[in-house]
Amino acid sequence: MKSIMINFILFGPPGSGKGTYSKKIVEDLGLIHISTGDLLRSEIEKKTDLGMQAKSKMEKGEFVPDETVISMIEGILCENDLAKGFVFDGFPRTVAQAQAFDTMLHKYNQSIRQVIAFEVEEEELISRIMARGKESGRADDQNYDVIKNRIAVYHSKTEPVKEYYKAQKKLSVVINEGKIDEVYAKVSSILSV
Ligand code: ADP
Repeated sequence: MKSIMINFILFGPPGSGKGTYSKKIVEDLGLIHISTGDLLRSEIEKKTDLGMQAKSKMEKGEFVPDETVISMIEGILCENDLAKGFVFDGFPRTVAQAQAFDTMLHKYNQSIRQVIAFEVEEEELISRIMARGKESGRADDQNYDVIKNRIAVYHSKTEPVKEYYKAQKKLSVVINEGKIDEVYAKVSSILSV
């Protein structure tokens, strides 16, 4: 990888808007969107070994193993070594993933520029996820117990990742309630810092 990439992480609980704003950032800045959830769902569709292993975890709202997602990410970085940069959505989701990710980026002389952490009230999250599930047919978005479990796993395993990036002075928090365009105005002002 020759040039310095522009890499952002969009962080937050399930249903907090990571996918929505990733799309907008990618359009505006010409970056590549990497969603580990989308990548895993495409492995499931293709019925690969990796997909079959991930499926049972995802159906329960549990995480797939750190090594699986880390090697998926490394593969994509290497395939796109001329990219301007990436928007990571749903990764890293554990402190171990964040540490491994920093080591990997360092190996390629790259780094994370900024992490945006979205926050939304839990009741609102659940209703947004249920609405998304009705539209998309995604099984893990349609089962109340699975949604509650994903939010609980977020609090126990993912939320500590915030502290990890806060310590690196890379964390910005955005409350994602209100109009999408207004929230996006805040996001873009952070990204252009
Ligand atoms: P959401 O953000 O709404 O939970 P995603 O599409 O990002 O939706 O993730 C769906 C599921 O995929 C997660 O519940 C988890 O099982 C799995 N997954 C996605 N990203 C990761 C990751 N980085 N590490 C482990 N599991 C992941």
